[in-house]
Amino acid sequence: EKLGIALVGLGYYSTDLLAPALQMTEKCYLAGIVTGSPEKAEKWKQKYNIPDKNIYNYQNFDSIANNPDIDIVYVVLPPSMHKEYSIRAARAGKHVFCEKPMAPSVNDCMAMIKVCRDNKVNLAIGYRCQHDPNTQEYMRIGREKLYGKVKMISCGAGYFDARTTHWKQNKALGGGVMGDMGVYALQGARLATGEEPIAVTAQASTTRPEIYKEVEETMMFQLQFPSGALAACHSSYGINMNYLQVNYEKGWLKMEPFSAYLGNKGSHSGGIIDFPIKNQQAKQMDEDCVALMNSTQLIAPGEEGLRDIKVVEAIYQATKNGGTVTIN
Ligand code: NAD
Repeated sequence: EKLGIALVGLGYYSTDLLAPALQMTEKCYLAGIVTGSPEKAEKWKQKYNIPDKNIYNYQNFDSIANNPDIDIVYVVLPPSMHKEYSIRAARAGKHVFCEKPMAPSVNDCMAMIKVCRDNKVNLAIGYRCQHDPNTQEYMRIGREKLYGKVKMISCGAGYFDARTTHWKQNKALGGGVMGDMGVYALQGARLATGEEPIAVTAQASTTRPEIYKEVEETMMFQLQFPSGALAACHSSYGINMNYLQVNYEKGWLKMEPFSAYLGNKGSHSGGIIDFPIKNQQAKQMDEDCVALMNSTQLIAPGEEGLRDIKVVEAIYQATKNGGTVTIN
């Protein structure tokens, strides 16, 4: 039997990526929706044949507890809302899938992990790339030290965002490029080394202050890892870029793109990386569902989301004091 997923927040990612992916999944299906918009509810109901009893708004959402069709609540809202809806879902006894960035603060992430644990439900973060065999291959090359130790990483994640009044520009909603695109660059460095950074420096900037009044348009940050590996990471809402370069003691690797939905590929000293994948989000949701069904380890549990946010907090701190911030 397939697990039933309810999507919370029917914006771009739910509409263009997750709902279509849920037409391809084998272990789960789009069982319900949670939306503040009656027009969207009607559209989705028609398009995906969703019964009225599986359609919720933000007020009556908690009654999802009584709905056996829904096994998993997938939170696809602006980041500042992830905590509230993940916690309400967990208290309703539902497993939680939550989009990245997990939440704006370490405290929020820890609260989400605790409530899920207390309610005996699982929490998975939507790090789709970790389910992509192309990502898994560069992780393997680092882990198995194919070319010796990682010495230097350069990683960039960004796109030109023309919007002017979106949550990505709104601090209270969890905007700012660091949590949105910066976490991809951070993941690139963390996954390529298989290590956690111990110190960061960072520089925030904007070329469009009239739009990026509250949050940074661009974040550059540098990481030091316990092995001595160094990373220079770049993220921006003003620059199109999607690459990861790793220099090892005895070789090199370059992925471009490294964190796209499809077509991640690259090469290294001894070969190429170009595994086919039909649909990244479908693979992510299916694999997470298999983990829930078999009570096995999730690829990216809440603890993985928290690891990134720890670093994100240190990065913001580093932009303020202009120096190095250590992470323990
Ligand atoms: P979006 O703005 O297109 O959608 C957000 C949805 O939340 C909208 O439907 C909006 O109506 C709803 N919403 C409810 N209350 C709101 C409020 N108070 N303010 C603003 N919106 C409110 O955003 P999106 O691009 O779909 O992003 C949603 C989440 O998905 C974010 O966490 C984002 O980082 C994540 N995301 C992940 C990926 C990925 O590749 N994993 C890609 C895109 C987005």
